Amino acid sequence: CGGVAKEPPMHIVHVAVEMAPIAKVGGLGDVVTSLSRAVQDLGHKVDIILPKYDCINLSSVKDFQHHRSYFWGGTEIKVWFGKVEGLSVYFLEPQNGNDGERFGFFCHAALEFLLQSGFHPDILHCHDWSSAPVSWLYKDHYVHYGLTNTRVVFTIHNLEFGAPLIGKAMEYSDKATTVSRTYAKEVAGNPVIAPHLHKFHGIRNGIDPDMWDPYNDAFLPISYTPDDVVEGKSAAKEALQQQLGLKILDVPLVGIITRLTVQKGIHLIKHAIWRTLERGGQVVLLGSAPDPRIQNEFVGLANQLHSSHGDRARLVLTYDEPLSHLIYGGSDFILVPSIFEPCGLTQLTAMRYGSVPIVRKTGGLYDTVFDVDHDKERAEAAGYGPNGFSFDGVDIAGIDYALNRAISAWYDGREWFNSLCKQVMEQDWSWNRPALDYLELYHAARK
Ligand code: ADP
Repeated sequence: CGGVAKEPPMHIVHVAVEMAPIAKVGGLGDVVTSLSRAVQDLGHKVDIILPKYDCINLSSVKDFQHHRSYFWGGTEIKVWFGKVEGLSVYFLEPQNGNDGERFGFFCHAALEFLLQSGFHPDILHCHDWSSAPVSWLYKDHYVHYGLTNTRVVFTIHNLEFGAPLIGKAMEYSDKATTVSRTYAKEVAGNPVIAPHLHKFHGIRNGIDPDMWDPYNDAFLPISYTPDDVVEGKSAAKEALQQQLGLKILDVPLVGIITRLTVQKGIHLIKHAIWRTLERGGQVVLLGSAPDPRIQNEFVGLANQLHSSHGDRARLVLTYDEPLSHLIYGGSDFILVPSIFEPCGLTQLTAMRYGSVPIVRKTGGLYDTVFDVDHDKERAEAAGYGPNGFSFDGVDIAGIDYALNRAISAWYDGREWFNSLCKQVMEQDWSWNRPALDYLELYHAARK
């Protein structure tokens, strides 16, 4: 890392279609913002190019202003500029309606903007299928038009989406990454990845410690640090119970915050809700399903649970950022039983708020959660202490094994459990380490 620090600053441009908090669907949006902030904090210049969606809440964009306009592809494209979480963002707005919604058009327009503005970034960083075309549009065209000396880095946040486009970007990029080491191993045999292993690396995601900070969080009733985690979390738990109309009880509370898709282990989530209730606990689920059939299933389950266990279970079937903060703060456990999980941010955020993760051993969940009973050595080797409960398999026996141990630990030894909360809160899951790995990768791409 010493070597990296001495190199001159680089200019990195992200082309992305999501950016937290103004345009976020899932983890990709979080990563674009938090990785950029970490790299910028290390002294580099970072810009982000984003489509200008109508839904963007401009009150979260500072100094929003018209930057310039240019013509490309038979249309005028207006460029707006503003600051989001301290980052410079250029918003592209084509003036002819529909085309602007197509990500391929957006990628092309982004390169054209860089060319016409005289930008010469060292690194163009694109993400998943939605900005994958940047890699080949650059190599096939823009490198010849004068946008020379740029290297393309491509990050796969989820291989499930858009595999053909992802394969092409793997071929055209100088370096490629995915968001954890274990996920990198899991997908290494995939035909779109396998030919490119020499330039493919797993770098785990981090979370932004300022955007997720229990000491400074407007959505929590009181702020807390590892030293007063017990007081902080019990106040948050009570506020959560009150807000959702649950009974104010001193029982283990399991929180779940997720997109409701097959990837996230829907059958395991449903089972865990019933098991937790059987064991006398409370459950809060915050989630929404892009698939209306799954959404309807959960609406049905919510109705059933709210009438049979209204004092102990609440399913909130929507996207709600403020509520997610209160759940991270007020839960004893955060459950993430994903079938596969490239990195996963919820277990990291959970730990930042002193909630103990219960996860299935896959992808980034495996790399970041170390079972208190089984993973002491692996935890130490990674430079962390044990921090949660985990399980194998996709059947009910697996999840029961982890969930039962977790809930029993809560009932049997409150002091031990409280010290575990403090311990997980003290672990550093920010970008401090992985941002240096990215810088090393950026430098390697330029060699
Ligand atoms: P993915 O990108 O597959 O959805 P991640 O764990 O990487 O999964 O990121 C999910 C992010 O979205 C986290 O920041 C989580 O807090 C947030 N999130 C997921 N569902 C909701 C919801 N219903 N309301 C608020 N935030 C949510």
